[in-house]
Amino acid sequence: MQRFGHVIGAACDETANSRWLPVFEPATAQPYAQVVAGNAADVDAAVAAASAAAPAWSGLRNSERARHLERLADALDARIEHFARAEAVDGGKPLALARDVEIPRAVSNLRFFAHAATQFSSESHHGEAGLNYTLRQPLGVVACISPWNLPLYLFTWKIAPALAAGNTVVAKPSEITPATATMLGELALDAGLPPGVLTIVHGLGPEVGEPLVMHPHVKAVSFTGSSAVGRRIAGLAGPLLKKVSLELGGKNATLVFADSDWRTHLDTLVRSAFQNSGQICLCGSRLLVERTIYADFRNAFVERARALRLGAPLEAGTQLGPMVSQAHFDKVMAAIERARAEGGRVLCGGDAVDRAGWFIAPTVIEGLGPDCATNRDEIFGPVATLQPFDGDDEALALANASDYGLSASVFTNNLARAHRLAADLRVGIVWINTWLMRDLRTPFGGTGASGLGREGGLDAMRFFTEPRNVCIALPANS
Ligand code: NAD
Repeated sequence: MQRFGHVIGAACDETANSRWLPVFEPATAQPYAQVVAGNAADVDAAVAAASAAAPAWSGLRNSERARHLERLADALDARIEHFARAEAVDGGKPLALARDVEIPRAVSNLRFFAHAATQFSSESHHGEAGLNYTLRQPLGVVACISPWNLPLYLFTWKIAPALAAGNTVVAKPSEITPATATMLGELALDAGLPPGVLTIVHGLGPEVGEPLVMHPHVKAVSFTGSSAVGRRIAGLAGPLLKKVSLELGGKNATLVFADSDWRTHLDTLVRSAFQNSGQICLCGSRLLVERTIYADFRNAFVERARALRLGAPLEAGTQLGPMVSQAHFDKVMAAIERARAEGGRVLCGGDAVDRAGWFIAPTVIEGLGPDCATNRDEIFGPVATLQPFDGDDEALALANASDYGLSASVFTNNLARAHRLAADLRVGIVWINTWLMRDLRTPFGGTGASGLGREGGLDAMRFFTEPRNVCIALPANS
């Protein structure tokens, strides 16, 4: 059986006496591989390797670090199909989604931050208080902890800016989907990245993630995952006064106004609810629809949702794969049962699919208000609710009735309404007449229970560097 070991130093470590965890193929619900269950000693070894590599890596010219990242991007680009297949087996996502969107996006992340390495600049302030300029220096060793839903896409979104800014990285991918991160760690060594610059340590959150967060030589923690674990990490890192970036859960609203071209946008609207079987933090799981079009919209949306093709991830034409794990399948099924108990009407789906693997049919629910748990808690599965509204004020109140604040999408042709709502929605990202359109330069992140800080572009480069102001007295100031 295939084994995913740590990538510490110059090799992928398959230590014989390690403890191993099963890795399941979601489409069959059968174990297909094993991942090493690391511990605090492995974290120490990983941080030691990263610390040893730090001076030489931070001492490289920016253009040399950029070339390393470009070489890794080229190597990954040449193996997109291979990585996409691994991701489809490991995480259950349709091959086409992995091959055409997510692995190419991982390549783009590496290329984008290769460019950032040479284009990052710092501020200077010239005035009554002399000439001030700001140095931006790498932090040293940083931790990047990532989730299972977009395994390589989010892994590279963190490690690329950390490395570009001159840090060495100890990364902890999700133990549920360890395949492509391990493959990338090995590919990086083959592509000439010096050993220790990108170190990968596997295992369970409490056994590996927590020692990593608390390790005295780890200077910052970039985390993407659930709000519960984000709170736990904030609690551990706070007393240590460690820099933390937290990208957490979402319960995003999609606002559909009668004046929009909603029929033209139906594909996008359905994708925004169900892409990756709803296992994307940005999915629009609460659809708010203007009452005058509610019935027409509901019928068209449900028809499209019913037509989505569930299937084996490697099968051509599959649009939706399974849930990633038994535990997650159970959580989503329990959420659907709770929606029924709260009085929700299930318009389509609502059941597991009768086949091997953790498949759930795309589910649309109506009849529930903003206070019920179905519309408040993140479900993170193929489950969307519909709520009607009358007018902008009610739409805004419903959209903002959430502890989360990651993203929102507004579908309208009224420019003034679009700008007004964009200013008043309590979220980090607003899309107008689109969803998940990403310019990698823009700030990415959420408010409230969706997290702290922003990733992307200069925000990421700033997070992974320490500013130091230098003040020079000028003759005119003395
Ligand atoms: P999770 O919080 O269970 O795990 C995320 C990572 O943290 C994994 O690597 C896990 O092993 C590790 N971990 C778990 N417990 C830990 C601990 N005590 N200390 C340190 N590390 C620990 O999340 P998940 O189930 O893998 O991912 C799904 C969640 O991620 C959803 O809530 C989703 O909304 C969120 N997410 C957010 C974004 C974003 O950008 N805001 C993107 C993707 C996913």
